[in-house]
Amino acid sequence: MASIRELHTQLVNKERSAVEITQETLDRIQSLEPKLHSFLCVTAEKALEQAEAVDAKIAAGEEIGLLAGIPIGIKDNMCTKGITTTCASRILENFVPPYESTVTQKLFDAGAVMVGKANMDEFAMGSSCETSAYQLTGNPWDVSRVPGGSSGGSAAAVAAEECVVSLGSDTGGSIRLPASFCGVVGMKPTYGLVSRYGLVAYASSLDQIGPFGRSVEDAAILLNTVAGYDPKDSTSLNVPIPNYAANLRPDLKPKGQLKIGVIKETFGSGLDSVVEQAVTKAIEQLQALGAEVHVISCPRFRYGLPSYYIIAPSEASANLARYDGVKYGYRSEDADNLMSMYTSTRATGFGPEVKRRIMIGTYALSAGYYDAYYLKAQKVRTLIKQDFENAFEQVDVLVCPTAPATAFKAGEKTDDPLSMYLTDLMTIPVNLAGLPGLSLPCGFDDQGLPIGLQLISNVLREDLLFQVAYAYEQSTDWHLRKPSLGGKE
Ligand code: GLN
Repeated sequence: MASIRELHTQLVNKERSAVEITQETLDRIQSLEPKLHSFLCVTAEKALEQAEAVDAKIAAGEEIGLLAGIPIGIKDNMCTKGITTTCASRILENFVPPYESTVTQKLFDAGAVMVGKANMDEFAMGSSCETSAYQLTGNPWDVSRVPGGSSGGSAAAVAAEECVVSLGSDTGGSIRLPASFCGVVGMKPTYGLVSRYGLVAYASSLDQIGPFGRSVEDAAILLNTVAGYDPKDSTSLNVPIPNYAANLRPDLKPKGQLKIGVIKETFGSGLDSVVEQAVTKAIEQLQALGAEVHVISCPRFRYGLPSYYIIAPSEASANLARYDGVKYGYRSEDADNLMSMYTSTRATGFGPEVKRRIMIGTYALSAGYYDAYYLKAQKVRTLIKQDFENAFEQVDVLVCPTAPATAFKAGEKTDDPLSMYLTDLMTIPVNLAGLPGLSLPCGFDDQGLPIGLQLISNVLREDLLFQVAYAYEQSTDWHLRKPSLGGKE
């Protein structure tokens, strides 16, 4: 499948219609889904309607934007008016939002064609898509392996060309990790850059929506469409949004102008040697492209994971209190009074990982433990932020691996939550500091599984991240490889 720009040219030159592109995509989804299970629901009817509207515009000689007629997947935690939004949870099984999230509204206004709602970990809690209450998504490079999580469906769909681009959300790594496991580009923007209105809340001080694409340019174009101030989100930033796709160049010259910092603490024990080699090579490549490379220490980086697993569950326990069987979603029939209706609804509506988080969060926020856990974790969060601030006084962009290893087998970590949590070791500090982070392919292991390189910049320097990522991407051919869609199911 072509890039956004190529499809756009075909559309305006009337070589292909939006309906043709959409139908082809829907056919591909139909043939691949029995194997991949990327989508919780395919919105074929709506997609064809949206495509017809784009074709009508073209026929009437109207100008269309870059995303018009482009098939796109949406993670199922973004509210879509009239279309079921489940968060991959039983508790929202029949929830049909009466309103549109800001991001999907912006996409529809731009003429994008939504082909489906993508699978995810339940309430975005997980690193493998396996906590979904509905289905397991396969990794397109080996379907017996996980696509990463929590936005695994969005990443797998893009990698397998079931759509051109997609949206995911990232609270502790949920865009970057699946991007790394599926060999695509995934970016988590600065906290507040993209409106969270209509995004089902997991941990509100960490959640951010961001793009997936098979190329840096596609991801940049998608971010441009969804970013921007929204009065409906009180944490939305009111800042000018640069044209991210406009200044992409294939090098980082003049030499030495761009300083890159390698985060020392992300190397060494716990890091797979094949990942280490690929990332080291990528850093050499960035140097060859003109960057000046420094080694940077972020000593508090390693406290990200423990503080995240206090802060995120605490916020989740508060956010998930609203699912009580009364207002919307699933209600247990197995109750004879109000109290037992609440408890039975929550006991059967939430999966085990979500319940674990609610219990941890409730405990950490309880009167006797608040200071010892929650307050302490918030203080550590500040220290991690300071590490990054220090780093950005010395360099422009930080690099490290996205994940310690490549995609693991389905079922391998489901009984060991701690080892599952460790997958996000390198991505979590970025959320705690509210910074933008991007993952892009930087190699493959000996089993043909993709490896991700993470780039991190200071707040609101998404433009710089895209520039560095683009220069690297254009000097390698990792992004041109296609998944086999093989492996034992
Ligand atoms: N894996 C992490 C968690 O389970 C991050 C998830 C996310 O970013 N949504 O909380």
